[in-house]
Amino acid sequence: MYDFALINGTVIDPAASLNDRRTVAIQNGHVAAILDPGMPVVAKQTLDCSGQLIVPGLIDFHVHVFPGISNFGIDPDETCLARGVTTVLDFGTAGGLIFDGFRQFVIDTAKTRVKALMLIAGQGLISSNDSKPALGELWDLAYCDVEGCVAAVERHRDCVSGIKVRCMEDISHGGLNEAEGLRRAREAADATKLPLVVHPANSSLSIEHIMETLRPGDVLTHCFHDKNCKLVDKETKLWPIVREKQKEGVQFDVGHGWGSFAWRVVRPMLDQGFEPDFLGSDLHAYNTNGPVFDLVTTLDKFLHVGMSVPEVIRRSTATCARWLGMADEIGTLRVGACADITVLEIESGEFPLTDSEGVTEIAQRQFAVRHCFRAGRRVGISPKPAPMPSRI
Ligand SMILES: [Zn+2]
Repeated sequence: MYDFALINGTVIDPAASLNDRRTVAIQNGHVAAILDPGMPVVAKQTLDCSGQLIVPGLIDFHVHVFPGISNFGIDPDETCLARGVTTVLDFGTAGGLIFDGFRQFVIDTAKTRVKALMLIAGQGLISSNDSKPALGELWDLAYCDVEGCVAAVERHRDCVSGIKVRCMEDISHGGLNEAEGLRRAREAADATKLPLVVHPANSSLSIEHIMETLRPGDVLTHCFHDKNCKLVDKETKLWPIVREKQKEGVQFDVGHGWGSFAWRVVRPMLDQGFEPDFLGSDLHAYNTNGPVFDLVTTLDKFLHVGMSVPEVIRRSTATCARWLGMADEIGTLRVGACADITVLEIESGEFPLTDSEGVTEIAQRQFAVRHCFRAGRRVGISPKPAPMPSRI
């Protein structure tokens, strides 16, 4: 007898090329069977998923989940797991000086599976631009300590997936320390043999400079931002270096956030054949009440611009799991995988979707999160947060 049987739903598992009616059976925290519809199944509990999509537990590739230490920090269980996201990648909220605490108080205690990038700046993203006093993480390069970063990775190698650096003018003395911060992050990534992940939005460096630093497997986030150092020229045409590097194997994350998703550049970039690999939300304390809200709202935006449902799901499950080196365990509903499962429904109506520039478009469809399982246990779902004026 199985623990759970999810019946009458459509299973979308892009990693297994599956998009069809199936019954999903769960036992001992794992996917125990994927059965043809109508096949008899005996389970302690049965969940009727008629009209709903059963997908691998969603993975948010870009969040900030170190509440109480970072101004950006949010609780992963309240804001991610309760909104259908079973795994998150913390995008370098902690650096080497504070990662031990991040491990102890967040990674090891959250119900959500938390993987992390290590910020090259040891003090981490402890303050934001509106903090008083603010502390730009590249203001003092003494904190940008390669040796300390590498040592922290070695202490926590099982949960660190890459090295992060933010190239941003106002956190680096007007851009003065950006190139050196980037160089040191590259050095730490090479020393640890981990991918390098770069934030380019509002950098004083050129996009060529940043892209030239990236190698296959590395990631550029905020790919749809409309600020300095964007991926397109004045005519919104992709810079050739972006295409070249994508062909080479550099990968791209959406990282919507409070400032990096502009309708104005999203459509032209998609029209030119640019496809993001990961639909990370960049959810943090300053955007949970809009314009980001949660991961599924970012997914809604890609549905709205014409991406198919399986492709949206693929870029929020399979691609992320593969990059994390966990493709056998998560991001799929293959038999034997961890029973991290999200059940979604597509609602029809009129749904306002606001980008990070304050421009609102009306979508005809949106994802609603109906059920969620983490390692075979059912978790409660919270409603989408209400919109509130931005805190900055
Ligand atoms: Zn971020």
